[in-house]
Amino acid sequence: MAWERIRKDTNPRVAPNLADYAQARRAFSWQRARAELSGLPGRGGLNIAYEAVDRHIAAGNGRHTALRCIARDGTVTGVSYAGLALDTARFANILRSLGVNRGDRVFTLLGRCPELYTTVLGTLKNTSVLCPLFSAFGPDPVRQRLRLGNARVLVTTEALYRRKVADRRDQLPELEHVLFVGPVTEPLPDTVSFAELMQAASDDFTIPPTDPQDMALLHFTSGTTGTPKGAVHVHEAVVAHHATAAFALDLHPEDIYWCTADPGWVTGMSYGVIAPLTHGVTVVVDEGDYDARRWYQILAEERVSVWYTAPTAVRMLMRGTARHASTDLPQEYDLSALRFIASVGEPLNPEAVLWGQEALGLPIHDNWWQTETGCIMIANFAGTEIRPGAMGRPLPGVEAAVLERGEDGRALVTGGRVTVLHHPDAEGELALRPGWPSMFRGYLHDKVRYDAAFADGWYLTGDVARQDADGWFWFVGRADDVIKSAGHLIGPFEVESALMEHPAVAEAGVIGRPDPVAGAIVKAFVSLKPGHDPSEALERELLAFSRRRLGPAVAPREIAFDQNLPKTRSGKVMRRLLRARELGLPEGDISTLEGSA
Ligand code: ATP
Ligand code: MG
Repeated sequence: MAWERIRKDTNPRVAPNLADYAQARRAFSWQRARAELSGLPGRGGLNIAYEAVDRHIAAGNGRHTALRCIARDGTVTGVSYAGLALDTARFANILRSLGVNRGDRVFTLLGRCPELYTTVLGTLKNTSVLCPLFSAFGPDPVRQRLRLGNARVLVTTEALYRRKVADRRDQLPELEHVLFVGPVTEPLPDTVSFAELMQAASDDFTIPPTDPQDMALLHFTSGTTGTPKGAVHVHEAVVAHHATAAFALDLHPEDIYWCTADPGWVTGMSYGVIAPLTHGVTVVVDEGDYDARRWYQILAEERVSVWYTAPTAVRMLMRGTARHASTDLPQEYDLSALRFIASVGEPLNPEAVLWGQEALGLPIHDNWWQTETGCIMIANFAGTEIRPGAMGRPLPGVEAAVLERGEDGRALVTGGRVTVLHHPDAEGELALRPGWPSMFRGYLHDKVRYDAAFADGWYLTGDVARQDADGWFWFVGRADDVIKSAGHLIGPFEVESALMEHPAVAEAGVIGRPDPVAGAIVKAFVSLKPGHDPSEALERELLAFSRRRLGPAVAPREIAFDQNLPKTRSGKVMRRLLRARELGLPEGDISTLEGSA
């Protein structure tokens, strides 16, 4: 393929943090990464909020802009590091005055407004635990999570509260305090105004000693493969957030950085709030939803230099509009400040990497991680070659391997032992050697499930991958999604990627449909770009196109057109729903399905 490798500029504008991969791995230790941070004064331990905010003031950088919050109507609010320090101190004092203590759970159900950032970091200052909820969740998912997570405090808006919590508040006996951000039209029982409390609160707060192992964050997974799990993270995670943002996002203090993920998901928290602030950069926050023009405008007007987004967003930009080819629209904007783009969440098809190069002047760097890992584990780096379609190589301090799989598709464990597959390109379950600081410490209330995620000294990720002879990892599929057809193992990503190279195809989701002869046959659901309509002729063309690219054993046998592929609210194709619908089976947990109530 023409795009097998992308070599980098030998003279980049900014010297990359990681230029020599082997050397960076050799030189790295988590202990040294810890030394890059300050720690609480007086050997008080390690607190995420101190590293993200207060230490910059101690270093004399308080006037630097921490946040540039763009409201839906385009109004921009700037918040300096000094301002953020005072606001978060006020919020920590509010919690203290409410009797909310170490380990108590504070939930947010908010859009991407400045108060969200104040709440997150103020909660961490108070050594309480923050659990962010995505504001578009319906009432049931909200209440389930509040209950499961033992919420004591909820910070939300009056409108969201009325719609999603109010009428079942009695089912949440542990929820004592509800704070309303924004105007309150009519006082409700057992609720208070965030702004009023903030006005009355002192901005003098000393972060109490914080054990690096103290619980800090609770994150629910995306729910792509089943019921979302609550992953527990601790303050020590900040060491990994900081180090990996230097390596995989190439953050430098002068950067203006935009992460498009909502802080309701782990990406929006680890890399939308914590990691960039620990680097002292300016973080752009957009309250608005995806819109191609709005996004290009933000990149241009805010002079964004580092951009972290998701494959689903890239593929939306790649669709173009009825009037603009996807490579034309960005030409109308000045994107000259951009110097690095990365993506996470789903496999990034090679065509998308190349589209970045063509349309934005920069290739897109894929990286891989999970809610459970808390930070980026595998990445294509700014300073090294990219292999389009590959997730990249493990970060310094991260050991990854591919394990032999058993009949159930998961790592084969015999007598407590697993087998690491050493030969290049062998497919198996992706596993990681525990020991990095942001590793999850448990699934909330589910020790059995947590214990089952480990075997023989490895953490088993549930994803299937292969490693090439040079060390790059390639995503094959989730263990649940890999298809067995006529003796072949087929990863849906390979098939989806090939289909997306066809000019008519915007996105694809591929499943195995049970078949009495082959075991399963490959069926693809595709959505089309503007200007293309479903037809039998197009179906035949796509079948032939994929047969030419993939060969008859792997190519889909059936194609269905579907402009609304089921996706999670974090933008992942839910293949389990495509399967369930195809087979007329129950849909299972759909609390994170995009568009659900
Ligand atoms: P759930 O665990 O509830 O089913 P989820 O796994 O989608 O949901 P997340 O933790 O948000 O929840 O997502 C992590 C998963 O996303 C990974 O295990 C992997 O399957 C997928 N993923 C993330 N980044 C990439 C990538 N760069 N390439 C391929 N897959 C990726
Ligand atoms: Mg998962």
